[in-house]
Amino acid sequence: MGICCPACGSTKVKKNGHIHNGKQNRRCKKCGRQFAENPRQKLISLEKREQIRNLLLERILEFLGCRYTYRHNAASDGGLDG
Ligand SMILES: [Zn+2]
Repeated sequence: MGICCPACGSTKVKKNGHIHNGKQNRRCKKCGRQFAENPRQKLISLEKREQIRNLLLERILEFLGCRYTYRHNAASDGGLDG
């Protein structure tokens, strides 16, 4: 059995029902952390990963751009303590 707690690495885990998608849920006896079996072993293609990265980057830039515009407008408005 190679199942161990992702949080503390303990192998003292017990079954704890199933999560919504039917995967076995487990709970660490040592630290109490709950986790599903193989939660991070998703195979994502390189193309998909690139897409997600670009999307994230777009969002981040959008977000930063909004903030910058907002601050810029506020500053050119004559200041806040006037
Ligand atoms: Zn643990």
